[in-house]
Amino acid sequence: MSDIRNVVIIGSGPAGYTAAIYAGRANLNPLVFEGFQKGGIPGGQLMTTTEVENFPGFPTGVMGPQLMSYIKEQAINCGAELIMEDVTSVDFRDRPFTIKYLSHEVQTHSVIIATGATAKRLHLPSEPKYWNRGISACAVCDGAAPIFRGVELAVVGGGDTAAEESIFLTKYGSKVHLLVRGDRMRASKIMQERVLAHPKITVHWQSIPIDVYGEEIVKGVKLRHAVTNEESDLAVGGLFYAIGHSPNTDLFAGQIELDATGYIITKGKSTSTNIAGVYACGDVQDHEYRQAITAAGTGCMAALEAERWLSAM
Ligand SMILES: Cc1cc2nc3c(=O)[nH]c(=O)nc-3n(C[C@H](O)[C@H](O)[C@H](O)COP(=O)(O)OP(=O)(O)OC[C@H]3O[C@@H](n4cnc5c(N)ncnc54)[C@H](O)[C@@H]3O)c2cc1C
Repeated sequence: MSDIRNVVIIGSGPAGYTAAIYAGRANLNPLVFEGFQKGGIPGGQLMTTTEVENFPGFPTGVMGPQLMSYIKEQAINCGAELIMEDVTSVDFRDRPFTIKYLSHEVQTHSVIIATGATAKRLHLPSEPKYWNRGISACAVCDGAAPIFRGVELAVVGGGDTAAEESIFLTKYGSKVHLLVRGDRMRASKIMQERVLAHPKITVHWQSIPIDVYGEEIVKGVKLRHAVTNEESDLAVGGLFYAIGHSPNTDLFAGQIELDATGYIITKGKSTSTNIAGVYACGDVQDHEYRQAITAAGTGCMAALEAERWLSAM
């Protein structure tokens, strides 16, 4: 019985490491699977960005990988044990739960899922060159960056997120071009009305980005008309993807309750899933805020809830 862990945490973004800090301080001896290549990389999404300006405690900002290395170090100092491997399967049908990874398996009384989500990309030919140099998948995270201030910006997408991000970006850009693939938007009626009425937003219908161009940073987007195939250039200083996220939940399909888009369903304002002892935190259960601080906050909640549940076992 001594081999059974109290809590296994799957994922090493802000949510997973924060859960590990709290679980470690509660003497639960948490085991964290940091991941390797499934659903991201160890350290999570912030490893792929440069400056993070909105995480509290860093008045002049902090580089994403540096922030994650601080949080990781804190988790280790609080007693977390880390394994840099992907979890390959879970079994929540029997207790204790079984977690399999490439080299072995482990049994645990409780599990905290923090596997995050992956922002969908367009995979444009020049995307690797201009990622973080004018292309972003998060307007709230990057919109205020100096390179986007006072210049024309483009947002690609046709749903509520694209509408919200376009409106948000009007605070920084001189003008926002919303690139919609079809001849209508999927966004809610109210959001569509706001976008269409906004004096700083122009909607380009049936417009498909086929590449970006520039020098050090993006200077424009190449577009193709969805019907005529005519190509054109749109001079903008930034391109924001708002084409959705994929929650990293393949591993849990059929085992815990997911919503129609694959996000883990948590109960009320808790991180509880439909299985007692299994908690979900961060972007894997949040399609609304998707910020490092909200991921960390729910990581804290998951650890506290797991601790309470374990002490009542
Ligand atoms: C380019 C970019 C810039 C951003 N900038 C900001 C910003 O400035 N400010 C801000 O607040 N937010 C920003 N965000 C959003 C922020 O990064 C996310 O909200 C946050 O990282 C979510 O944290 P998380 O812990 O839920 O998941 P993630 O950070 O996505 O981490 C998920 C973790 O799960 C692991 N994992 C997945 N599958 C498995 C598996 N099978 N086995 C083991 N491990 C697994 C991955 O390796 C990873 O470690 C940005 C996002 C991106 C993409």
